[in-house]
Amino acid sequence: MFTVIDLVQPQTLEEAYNILVSRKNNTVLGGCAFLKMGSKRIGTAIELSKLDLNYIKETEGYIEVGASTTLRDIETSSLLKNYFSGVLVRAVGDIIGIQFRNVVNIGATVFSKYGFSDVITALLALDTEVELYKGGRMSLEEFLQRPYERDILTRIFIKKNARKAVYNCFRNSSTDYPILNLTVSKLENQWKIVVGARPATARIALEASELISKGQLNEALIEEVAQKAVEELNFGSNMRGSAEYRRAICKVLIKRTLMEVVSCK
Ligand SMILES: Cc1cc2nc3c(=O)[nH]c(=O)nc-3n(C[C@H](O)[C@H](O)[C@H](O)COP(=O)(O)OP(=O)(O)OC[C@H]3O[C@@H](n4cnc5c(N)ncnc54)[C@H](O)[C@@H]3O)c2cc1C
Repeated sequence: MFTVIDLVQPQTLEEAYNILVSRKNNTVLGGCAFLKMGSKRIGTAIELSKLDLNYIKETEGYIEVGASTTLRDIETSSLLKNYFSGVLVRAVGDIIGIQFRNVVNIGATVFSKYGFSDVITALLALDTEVELYKGGRMSLEEFLQRPYERDILTRIFIKKNARKAVYNCFRNSSTDYPILNLTVSKLENQWKIVVGARPATARIALEASELISKGQLNEALIEEVAQKAVEELNFGSNMRGSAEYRRAICKVLIKRTLMEVVSCK
């Protein structure tokens, strides 16, 4: 369990950011589920509830999600149910349980770049951008590749388009961390294959995605694409599975998920 010396609820993002960077052990709080697992000694804990960052809304070109939005809000959002074949709703559904999803935040989830994250894997297969208070707005892909810098993730923007997407994962049991997760999406002829929990953070399989985007879909191509993805991505071992095991699962999940995307309405 973490300890906190002082707790603040800033009225503005500027105030929150200034407190965050004023001392090394000052820390932004999300839903605290992950923080609770550690023993961090927090100087000033910065709680964001006064900043109105708990919302999901539709703007002209984007679906905008505030950083304090919980995974349960995402799961029950009628807006998100109707976009991208409901992929975000499906991707959060395996994470522990409803009480847990009622607390954990999307901002904390994305900012932390957890390797096992189901949410990041799904968001990366869409056309997603993140906004950091200091770092500004950038694609999720760029954010994931940047080195860690202290900042506050404020909002997530998902481009509204007709992208179809399917998320799948492989777990030892329903509430465990995933051994591998995967999202495949398609916008017209453009495919994106994203693999997470390798166990490293989700990455787009760029060559495999390009191969399928240029080819004529048939069984041989699907086989080739799955093979290409496991060759271009790095897989590692941990207590949940070896790199070899993950590679084998990945091939099967890619083939299965590609076929599911094809049958998406
Ligand atoms: C036991 C357990 C099992 C889990 N299993 C899964 C799983 O199977 N699949 C999955 O996808 N996820 C899983 N998660 C992760 C979970 O879904 C959340 O992503 C995670 O708990 C972080 O959310 P939080 O609200 O608890 O963040 P917190 O614990 O509050 O914060 C986590 C970190 O994010 C920082 N932070 C918080 N908000 C912001 C912000 N707006 N800007 C910048 N930094 C911020 C905090 O300072 C802290 O360093 C699991 C977590 C736990 C604890």
